Amino acid sequence: MALVIKLGGGEEGDPSLYVEVVGKKRALLFDCGFLTELTPREILRVKDLFISHTHIDHFIGFDYILRLILERKDSLHIYGPEGIAQNIQGKLKGYNWNIAQEIGLTIVVHEAIGERLRISRYQCKNRFEPDQEMEWREHRNIFLEDNDLVVDFLPLDHKTPSLAYRITEKPVIRVNKDRLQELQLPPGPWLRQLKEAVLSGSMKDQSLEIGDKVYPASDLQANLLEWTRGFKVVYLTDALLTEAAKEKIISFANASDIFYCEGPFLEADRDKAKSSYHLTAREAAILAREARVKKLVLFHFSPRYKGRYDELIAEARTVFHHVY
Ligand SMILES: [Zn+2]
Ligand SMILES: [Zn+2]
Repeated sequence: MALVIKLGGGEEGDPSLYVEVVGKKRALLFDCGFLTELTPREILRVKDLFISHTHIDHFIGFDYILRLILERKDSLHIYGPEGIAQNIQGKLKGYNWNIAQEIGLTIVVHEAIGERLRISRYQCKNRFEPDQEMEWREHRNIFLEDNDLVVDFLPLDHKTPSLAYRITEKPVIRVNKDRLQELQLPPGPWLRQLKEAVLSGSMKDQSLEIGDKVYPASDLQANLLEWTRGFKVVYLTDALLTEAAKEKIISFANASDIFYCEGPFLEADRDKAKSSYHLTAREAAILAREARVKKLVLFHFSPRYKGRYDELIAEARTVFHHVY
C-alpha cells in the first residue's frame, strides 16, 4: 500500500479520515470534524476534501483548514452532496476579507446534484464571492480520477443526502527484479520509459535501446512487469440501513481492504439509531461480513457510551471477527 490512513479525530472525536498518497506530498480528507490527530503539515497536504454531509460534527473543522491553507498556492477542491456550495459560501461569508486581496487561494466546490456535477469557484482575491461562471458535467458517481487513484461515492439517506466514499488506488506496476537478473538486463532509465509506455498505452510497436541492443517493448513488458492490485478503502458514516441501501453498500464495499464504518449505537438502542438515521455497530459488522472486507474500523460512537466504547466493538465482533 502506498497510502497512509488515519482518523483525524481519533476513534472518539468527530469524524474525519486522512488519506495521504506516500511520496506525492498530497492528501485527501474525508469529512472535517475534529482534526486533533493531524499536524499542520499534514493538513497543508490536503488538496481534496470530501464531505459526507454538513452536520456540524462532520464540518466543524473547515475553518481551521482554511486558516492553515489560506496562503497556499494550490487550490482546495471540496466535494459533497447538494447544498455543499451554499454551506461553503456561508462559512466564507463569516469573515471579513477586505485586506486579503493579495492572497491567491481558490476554493473549487464540486456539488453532486442528481446525475450532474456543478463546479463553482471562490477566489480570495475576490473576497471569496462566487465566480460568475459555473461548470456542469455528468458525474457517474465519480468525483476524482487521476494517475494515483479514483474516488467514487454512494448516496445514502440520513434525512438528508449523505455520501459514502470509496478510494481505489490505481494498479501499481512493478519490475520483477529476479527476471531482470535472469535476462541479464542492466537497470536504467529504460525501465521508467517502459512503465510510462505501458501506463500511457503507447507501447504498440515501440522498442527500447538497452546497452547496444534493441528490444520490442511488448516483450520487455511480458517478461519483466507485474501489476499489483491497488488498495481499496471505504468510508461510510451517518446513514439509515434500509434493505435497498444494504444491497448497494455491500456491493460498493465489496472486497475492500479497510472499511471505515460508523457504529454509533448498541442493538439495545436500535430505536435511537433508526430515529436519527444511523447504523448500529452490529449492522456495520453485518455489512463488513457480507461485503467480505479484510478489516472493519468502527468509529463515530455516540457519546452516550463514553468510557465503554469497547462494548460497541464487542457487539460487532459477535458478527465479524476483524473489527478494530
Ligand atoms: Zn449526521
Ligand atoms: Zn455524524
